[in-house]
Amino acid sequence: MVLKTTGEIELMDEANRIVHQVLDGITELIEPGVTTAELDRFAEELIRGAGGVPAFLNYRGFPATLCTSINDVIVHGIPNGTPLGEGDIIGVDCGVLFKGYYGDAARTYAVGEISHQARQLMDVTRESLDLAIRIVEPGKRLSDIGHAVQHHVEKSGFSVVREFVGHGIGAALHEDPQIPNFGQPGRGPMLEPGMVLAIEPMVNAGEPGVKVDEDGWTARTTDGALSAHFEFSVAVTETGQKVLGRGQAVAA
Ligand code: MG
Ligand code: MG
Repeated sequence: MVLKTTGEIELMDEANRIVHQVLDGITELIEPGVTTAELDRFAEELIRGAGGVPAFLNYRGFPATLCTSINDVIVHGIPNGTPLGEGDIIGVDCGVLFKGYYGDAARTYAVGEISHQARQLMDVTRESLDLAIRIVEPGKRLSDIGHAVQHHVEKSGFSVVREFVGHGIGAALHEDPQIPNFGQPGRGPMLEPGMVLAIEPMVNAGEPGVKVDEDGWTARTTDGALSAHFEFSVAVTETGQKVLGRGQAVAA
């Protein structure tokens, strides 16, 4: 596990600021009729204009800047020319490389009016991320994060995905440790200042299972139920945590 200096964390804050500019911009663009290919073009132009590089483009052959994951797609959906429909939910995951360091964050958006269940799923997923972030501080253990996510998700009647996990992040997009969204508390490495963790609950409305399409990327729920995903990159500080790209506050 790589500990980062204050200077490195400042660069990662900048990388994540670009990521959140993209995600804020997408809030304005999302509506029925927009295609995920259009969102992808917007993201790539903004990132390159800010002096960054899209981190997912060509990562292990991934063909786009954003992962766009609609309805039953959990993560890793590939942008295309299909228009978004009223009532869809769409997870957008964005990674940026800036001056040698990575930023990584994701949000799930509503397209027009969505069902009560879809709203609840998005809210619970987002709440589980906020709860997990609030417990991050020196002396806590890594598995306390996943325990907080799982507890909130399951008491709300939803399920957490096991096959994909959060991760350390820094000069590489995916570093140790892996951060599952489930498990017993009080296990794994002790959190210490200088760790940077990409915490990313993926929550299914039905069963927790995952199946991957023939494209090798698109990961869906096995039962066709909805799935939501939120992610922040979070630095462990001397006194607690800092959500990178968003200032000190745990806010959308
Ligand atoms: Mg991500
Ligand atoms: Mg990530």
